[in-house]
Amino acid sequence: MSNTLPPKERLKIPRQPMPEQEPHERRHNFLEVNQGLTVLGATTEALRCLECAKPQCSDGCPVHVKIREFVQLVTAGEFLKAAAKIREDNVLPAITGRVCPQETQCEGCCILGKKQEPLAIGYLERFVADYEREHGQLGLPERQPPTGKKVAIVGSGPAGLSAAGDLIRAGHDVTVFEALHELGGVLIYGIPEFRLPKEIVRHEIEVLRQMGIRFETNVVIGKTVTIDELMNDEGFDAVLVATGAGLPKFLGVPGENLPGVYSANEFLTRVNLMHANDPTYDEPVFDCRGRDVAVIGGGNTAMDAVRTALRLGARKAYLVYRRTEKEMPARAEELKHAKQEGVELICLANPVAFREDEKGNLCAIRLQRMELGEPDASGRASPRPIPGSEFDLPVAMAVVALGTSANPLVQASTPDLGTDRRGYIAADPTSLCTSKRGVFAAGDIVTGSATVILAMAAGRRAAASILRYLEDGQWPVVLPA
Ligand SMILES: Cc1cc2nc3c(=O)[nH]c(=O)nc-3n(C[C@H](O)[C@H](O)[C@H](O)COP(=O)(O)OP(=O)(O)OC[C@H]3O[C@@H](n4cnc5c(N)ncnc54)[C@H](O)[C@@H]3O)c2cc1C
Repeated sequence: MSNTLPPKERLKIPRQPMPEQEPHERRHNFLEVNQGLTVLGATTEALRCLECAKPQCSDGCPVHVKIREFVQLVTAGEFLKAAAKIREDNVLPAITGRVCPQETQCEGCCILGKKQEPLAIGYLERFVADYEREHGQLGLPERQPPTGKKVAIVGSGPAGLSAAGDLIRAGHDVTVFEALHELGGVLIYGIPEFRLPKEIVRHEIEVLRQMGIRFETNVVIGKTVTIDELMNDEGFDAVLVATGAGLPKFLGVPGENLPGVYSANEFLTRVNLMHANDPTYDEPVFDCRGRDVAVIGGGNTAMDAVRTALRLGARKAYLVYRRTEKEMPARAEELKHAKQEGVELICLANPVAFREDEKGNLCAIRLQRMELGEPDASGRASPRPIPGSEFDLPVAMAVVALGTSANPLVQASTPDLGTDRRGYIAADPTSLCTSKRGVFAAGDIVTGSATVILAMAAGRRAAASILRYLEDGQWPVVLPA
């Protein structure tokens, strides 16, 4: 089954490009930008794999997908087997194939990348997951006999979903409680359709539902029902809190409350989840057609917001970032796509105020020029304001995408659940147990905003600890409340 092409020949094959919608077309629609490899493209790309004796790509993947093995199956044309191989470690392959920062993970560790472009592992993962979905031949993983134990999962983002997948397979009764009316967390309300079609998220969740997981939407844990009530009155033996970090951060500068200034969270949720871009829906969003818009930030959320504004008809869409392009934390592909679509970068600039017109609406952002100094705690050069360098950027709408902090409701309603000084749930790094017996926590609510695959990896780690706890009743570590 392994690749018979001599390594020298493999090196001659160029990395297969991802077919994409043309920038001038896609900036006017919400259809997916990347179109996916063809069968020929995928099998050709797979032939580039050097099949290393000690592959480092899997070490670069937080859930350790068996990359060499699944790529060999692609080479052999065994696409469904390749999908099954990925699913052994990753329950959301069609999603991670689209949104993982592969360049810093699996592809960043690919040996081929030392000589030329690395193997397109993300493209191949996406290809096999899409092939599996389009051919409708998904084999559900086996489930152990029922154990009679009940587990509640709070939050249906990637951390909660991946934990639910492992727990249901082990025979437990699993219920996922979600505050919103749609399941998927950031995958549904944050990442836009043109990057991650919602049908794909819904399909992956449907697979989990068919595996036997129960989902309850519109249940806000901490308001509708508390963690204590779930455990004491509703008979749950263990709870996993996977509520994410969805609380937007603001700049705290004058004018931030003006009409026309949004948090990225609100802006993206209105468009993604409430169809504000569709005139047949009631949900309003600022009409930026023919107007200029600025998004502040340099991460994936900022890229999503600025590209969404373009698609809503903005005349100019600026991305304002206080460092340089090199330090932007967004995925390389998002930055490339944003620039191709006509997003204008204003680097080394930071807002000091939002200005209003005579009607009280936003009309400009007052920006201050920055310069880079010594590296800060994140290892990136720290930006310093240049005195007297302020200037106005006229815009009709601004979106603040500066990151998020912990969703607080569960912590506030569970007095014996310890938190760290930033308000995230304190969890033992190995077992992910919290200060409250029977309660575990995973994903962004523990680490702060990270990535889909890291949240999934944490969900799986928590699930493994829950399995042990339900079996032997031993509480791994006693943490202070
Ligand atoms: C716009 C945007 C773009 C991003 N792009 C990328 C990307 O390209 N690649 C990448 O790897 N990562 C990306 N990320 C980060 C990634 O999406 C997150 O790190 C990941 O979703 C975290 O998963 P989670 O399960 O911990 O939390 P979430 O996905 O935040 O899910 C938490 C869920 O819990 C629910 N919840 C909260 N409180 C309660 C409660 N009290 N009761 C019931 N339910 C509750 C929430 O409604 C939500 O559905 C992006 C994030 C954003 C915001």
